[in-house]
Amino acid sequence: MMSVPLIAAINISKSFGSHQVLRSVSFEVAQGEALCILGPSGSGKSTLLRCLNMLERPDEGAVFLGGDLMGYRSHGRGIRELHDKTESMQRQRLGMVFQQFNLFPHMTVLENLVEGPVRVQKRGRVQARTEALALLDRVGLAEKANSFPSQLSGGQQQRVAIARALAMRPEALLFDEPTSALDPEMVNEVLQVIRELVRDGMTSIIVTHEVGFAREVCDRFLFMEDGVLVEDGPVSVLNQQAAHARTRDFLAKVL
Ligand code: ADP
Ligand code: MG
Repeated sequence: MMSVPLIAAINISKSFGSHQVLRSVSFEVAQGEALCILGPSGSGKSTLLRCLNMLERPDEGAVFLGGDLMGYRSHGRGIRELHDKTESMQRQRLGMVFQQFNLFPHMTVLENLVEGPVRVQKRGRVQARTEALALLDRVGLAEKANSFPSQLSGGQQQRVAIARALAMRPEALLFDEPTSALDPEMVNEVLQVIRELVRDGMTSIIVTHEVGFAREVCDRFLFMEDGVLVEDGPVSVLNQQAAHARTRDFLAKVL
């Protein structure tokens, strides 16, 4: 039986000035699925993620989240562009984890997790704190609740950033090279957290160069080159024999 995909990107195009960065990119992600995005630097991976939750507005195309058109709302018989407030509520449905963690440096770890639910989502502070502490426990950092980000390692900061994204109760998580800024010995602790989230059914899109991890944890991959979605397939073909020629060339460099 077919069901509505959780995320559907349809013919997304985006230019910056005369530079077309995304060329009619379309793909779908099912509820509970983990999708990785591979491709050389500059191929448009980050822009694609940003277009999914409208941090960048696509020039053309549409993004549907759970059947809702992102960036717009129903208005009488038609649709119209959202006011900032409604748009920010839609954006919260897709949690984002960045390469550079982007924690609030002047807040403790716990405050980082409580801020969004309380200020943006208007949830009660006591309940938000309880949920935040449970999330910190889930990423193995309950004892760091009262530390400041600068007192943590990069791996710990990224685990806090993941917990902070989860605190907003997103329907899916978008990871943009979550381990690229980490020292090698800290990569695994972050991948382990992502692995467990995917295993628990969190729909995830992960831009990564960790092909081994992608093969192990993800269901499907996209391969991007020059703004074009070259290949969309199961991770089982992510090897130097089976994949599309362009994907194969890329894999030969990173594997
Ligand atoms: P990737 O994440 O695959 O490395 P990006 O999506 O970051 O690729 O960038 C794709 C291209 O778009 C690059 O050439 C980049 O310089 C350009 N680009 C990205 N964001 C902007 C922006 N805000 N303004 C102008 N050019 C941009
Ligand atoms: Mg990028």
